[in-house]
Amino acid sequence: MSNHDAEIIDGNLDSSIVRSVQCLKNDQLIGLPTETVYGLAALASSQTAVRKIFEVKQRPTNHPLILHLAGFDELKRWAIEVPEYAKNLAAHFWPGPLTIILQRSKLVCDEITGGRNTVAIRVPNHPVALRLLSTLNDGLVAPSANRFGKVSPTSAHHVVADLGSEIAVVLDGGDCTVGIESTILDCTRAGIQILRAGAISKVEIEEIAKLHIVKSDGESRASGMLEKHYAPNCKVLVVDNSAQAISRQNELDKAGVQAVVLDYCEDVNFYAKQLYAELRQADSNDVEVVIAVLPTGNGLAEAIRDRLTKAAAASQP
Ligand code: AMP
Ligand code: MG
Repeated sequence: MSNHDAEIIDGNLDSSIVRSVQCLKNDQLIGLPTETVYGLAALASSQTAVRKIFEVKQRPTNHPLILHLAGFDELKRWAIEVPEYAKNLAAHFWPGPLTIILQRSKLVCDEITGGRNTVAIRVPNHPVALRLLSTLNDGLVAPSANRFGKVSPTSAHHVVADLGSEIAVVLDGGDCTVGIESTILDCTRAGIQILRAGAISKVEIEEIAKLHIVKSDGESRASGMLEKHYAPNCKVLVVDNSAQAISRQNELDKAGVQAVVLDYCEDVNFYAKQLYAELRQADSNDVEVVIAVLPTGNGLAEAIRDRLTKAAAASQP
């Protein structure tokens, strides 16, 4: 830990990739851009660095990490007994926001999985992350670069604001294009289950896997399955439509409570991309309540509903 804030370095420069590789090989953590959210990345082969992730994030060690790989071809090094449908899903959706849980190979250390014999894997769809990964001949474990339970970062500045004093560099890859964490799919059980909703929907997965997804059994194995998560400091209230939002805002206004409305339901891609930045903005403006309209539909809309509902649950006393 240093007294200095992390340096933001341009992810498009060769020198930044070289510097990131040096940091990682010295067991340090870096801020990593992906299309979903910014990650707090450690070299998968460094147990020391992987342990640091849990310390820095203040994350319980029973919340295992997602392993990021350079491409589909790497999968066979890190996972064993991969079912055919899971290979098809990976080949179809990678690079992209789909995380697949599989039986781990010997290469995956206990620190990553919290001692489980399964590992969560994806290939991020971000040119900077892919370039770094293809230089490493290793994987990167990278949970969101924020303290456990808090709002994920979607820009390099968000990472510095949250964890700047604990890491040396943040690779800047611009604002995240998706803005919400990956869909997590458990392929290690008899029925495939979605553990966390993301941009890739149940329908898309079923179409490629040619299998039916069973309802999740509710066991809390992913942060996506905790009831409270993704929480800003302000209170989050969820409502079903714009009219309800305006009326709640008027009520709060009369009571002298500063509230803002979040309502981009007509464009869920934009809603997802902006969601965390808006929650962060509300906190820095000392807004007391964010009233968020829940979008309808599957895929990203479902993922946004999931994050907002959990943020709202976290603001209950
Ligand atoms: P995050 O790193 O916050 O994006 O969250 C990744 C999520 O994936 C965590 O909540 C983990 O619980 C979940 N996860 C990672 N590995 C496994 C695994 N082997 N089995 C079940 N869930 C996993
Ligand atoms: Mg997270």
